[in-house]
Amino acid sequence: MIRIYNTLSKKKEDFIPLEEGKVRMYVCGPTVYNFIHIGNARPMIVFDTVRRYLEHKGYEVNYVSNFTDVDDKIIKKANEEGVPAEEISQRYIEECKKDMEGMNIKPATTHPLATSEIDGMIDMIGDLIEKGYAYAVNGTVYFRTRRFEEYGKLSHKNLDDLQAGNRSLLVSGEEEKEDPLDFVLWKPKKEGEPFWTSPWGDGRPGWHIECSVMSRRYLGEQIDIHGGGEDLVFPHHENEIAQSEACSGKLFARYWMHNAFLNIDNKKMSKSLGNFFTVREISERYELQVLRFFMLNAHYRSPLNFSAELMEASRNGLERIRTAAENLQYLAQHAKTAELTPEEEKILEGAGAFEEAFDRSMDDDFNTADAIAAVFDLVKYANTHAGEDSSSALAEGLGSRVRGLCDILGIITEQERELLDTEVEALIDERQAARKAKNFARADEIRSLLLEKGILLEDTREGVKWKRA
Ligand code: AMP
Ligand code: ZN
Repeated sequence: MIRIYNTLSKKKEDFIPLEEGKVRMYVCGPTVYNFIHIGNARPMIVFDTVRRYLEHKGYEVNYVSNFTDVDDKIIKKANEEGVPAEEISQRYIEECKKDMEGMNIKPATTHPLATSEIDGMIDMIGDLIEKGYAYAVNGTVYFRTRRFEEYGKLSHKNLDDLQAGNRSLLVSGEEEKEDPLDFVLWKPKKEGEPFWTSPWGDGRPGWHIECSVMSRRYLGEQIDIHGGGEDLVFPHHENEIAQSEACSGKLFARYWMHNAFLNIDNKKMSKSLGNFFTVREISERYELQVLRFFMLNAHYRSPLNFSAELMEASRNGLERIRTAAENLQYLAQHAKTAELTPEEEKILEGAGAFEEAFDRSMDDDFNTADAIAAVFDLVKYANTHAGEDSSSALAEGLGSRVRGLCDILGIITEQERELLDTEVEALIDERQAARKAKNFARADEIRSLLLEKGILLEDTREGVKWKRA
C-alpha cells in the first residue's frame, strides 16, 4: 500500500484513488518568461518520479501540468524585447520542453496553456458570482474569501490571524475590495497588455483560477493528487481549493503533495534573489541525468542544498551504477554458458529482496533516498555474484533488475558518451578514405553517425571542417 504525506491532514495516509486502477494528478507548472532554473526543476523531477512509480504499480495515470503563459512577468519581458507576449511564452515553453527531455521527464498527458482556456475561466468566474462567492467592481472580479468557510484548511491558517498579520494583502488598486482577504479572479486590461473580452469588461484572468479550470477540464471536478512546490500552499493552492470547492460543492483534491525548496547557501533558489542556476547552465557542466540523480538523493519533503560537492558525489554514484549495468551487459554477451545453474537460480531469487526494499521505500511517501540505497545494495550484490564464470541468464537477470529500478526513477543507465575530438577526427579520416575509394555508402554512413552525435561537417576547399551542434 502506498502512503502519501497529505499537506491537508499533515499526516501520511493510505493512497486510495477515486477510481480503482486510475490516478488523476495535477501539478502546477512554470510561468514561462525565461529559462527554468533548477529550483523549478525540483517539482518536475519529483512528480515525474511519483508518476513513474504509480505506473510501475499498475495505475493508469492521467497527468496534467500547465504552462502559465499570461502573467505580469511575461508581459514585462515582452515589452523589454518589443515583441508580443505570445512570442515570449512560446519561446520558453519550447526551451522548457528541451530541458525536460534532458532530465528524462515524461511529457504530461496534457500540458494545457492558460491562454487557451480563457472561456472555461470566464464560465467558472460567472458561476462563482451566481453562487455568491464572487463579485465584480469596476471591471475586477474578486473571490469573497470569507464566504468559503473552510478557507485556510490546507495552509492551516486561521482567517483572523491572516487578516491581522497581513496588511500587505491590500494591494494598491484593490481598495474597492469588500474584505482585504478577497483575491482577484479577473482583472481589467491595462494599456499594452493582452486582453480577452468578458461580461465584466476586457481584461485577463488571475493566476489561481487557471489551475482550478484546467484541472476540472482535463481531470474532472475531483482529482486524486495535486502537487507543487511548498511556496504554492498559500495562497495559490488555498485559493484553488476555495474556487473549485465553492463551485462543485465537492472535495477538490484528495492528496496534496508539496516538495521542499532547492536552496543555495541555505536560501531558496529564486529568480527574485538572483541566486539561481538555469537547467541550461547546469547542462553545460553536467549531464542532466546527474541533476536528476542529485535531486532524487533527497526525500522530496526535505530541503536540499545545491553544491558542487554534492553534484560531484551524484556523478560518482551514478557512474557506479552505470558501470555495474554495463559490466553485467558485457558479461551477458560474453558468457560461456546460457542457462542458470541451480546455485545461480538462488542468487537471482536473492536479488528480489532489493526490489522489495526499493518498493517499500517508495511506498513510504516516495522515499527516493532510501530507494536509491536499495539500488546501490543491488549493485553491490550483483558485483559480488556475477563474474566471468556466470551464465548469460544470471548476468542478464541481474542487469535487467538494475535497469528496471533505475527506470522507475527515470534514471537512464546507458551512458550518453560524447565522442572525443580524436575520435571525431579519426572518423572524418575514415570518411575521406571511403570517398577516395568511391565507397560513398560508408562515407554517408559516417556522416550520419557524426550527425547523430551532434557533429556537423562542412566540406571546404581547405578540407573538412567540423563543429559540435
Ligand atoms: P514558478 O514558475 O515560480 O511558478 O514555479 C514553478 C514551480 O517551481 C512551482 O511548483 C514552485 O513551487 C517551484 N519552485 C520554484 N522555486 C523553487 C525552489 N527553489 N525549490 C523548489 N521548488 C521551487
Ligand atoms: Zn496551480
